[in-house]
Amino acid sequence: LRKFFVGGNWKCNGTKESISKLVADLNSAKLEDDADVVVAPPFLHIDEVKSSLTERIEVSAQNSWIGKGGAFTGEISAEQLKDIGCKWVILGHSERRHVIGETDEFIGKKAAYALSQGVKVIACIGELLEEREAGKTFEVCFQQMKAFASKFSYSYAVPSWDDIVVAYEPVWAIGTGKVATPVQAQEVHVAVRDWLKKYVSAEVAAKTRIIYGGSVNGGNCADLAKQEDIDGFLVGGASLKGPEFATIVNSVT
Ligand code: 13P
Repeated sequence: LRKFFVGGNWKCNGTKESISKLVADLNSAKLEDDADVVVAPPFLHIDEVKSSLTERIEVSAQNSWIGKGGAFTGEISAEQLKDIGCKWVILGHSERRHVIGETDEFIGKKAAYALSQGVKVIACIGELLEEREAGKTFEVCFQQMKAFASKFSYSYAVPSWDDIVVAYEPVWAIGTGKVATPVQAQEVHVAVRDWLKKYVSAEVAAKTRIIYGGSVNGGNCADLAKQEDIDGFLVGGASLKGPEFATIVNSVT
């Protein structure tokens, strides 16, 4: 029902040289057919990656503007992504929420606009360590889901949830080497799926992919992938290494 999905978020990393090596490694990697694979290079490199990377792997942006382009210095709009054939965008990543200061409202608008332009969204949610310790994990994730879903319903024509992948990325697990245990991740994935069932529909809940991100690597991916509600991964650091990223893709069960 839910095809495995693995995204590589390259974040603000790479040079022309290192990225061309990574693309060559990905082009020669053997990837299982039953997984969707997407990589998100920095904006600067998207066009080059798109033209040199195998069509087996789709390309995503790491951000996009909240609406139509124009006088917004430094921004990239969803229609510009569409124009160069970039099919995906990551929105709501914790680094944009907590380092750049993007709000739920702002992120929801971005997502709705990207979807309205036919750009699919990897919608990120996740709690801070202090929120987890205060027992607020579900509350925070539900609030973030609500911010996405309410904008989907009201701002533009209702988009299809087929174009949305939800990424649960607990902030305390990102870039820390402290991966969530399979049980911890599964518990949140189930709760988010229940939320979708309650507030969107049973059909959307059953078919929407909920992927996990936060210190996923070649060694821990297999146990996480076995969990029933973990439908893939959003990988940061380990996605910069072609062979390790391929191992993660191939953890599809
Ligand atoms: P790491 O895999 O480096 O922890 O990063 C996860 C992430 O933020 C993916 O978007």
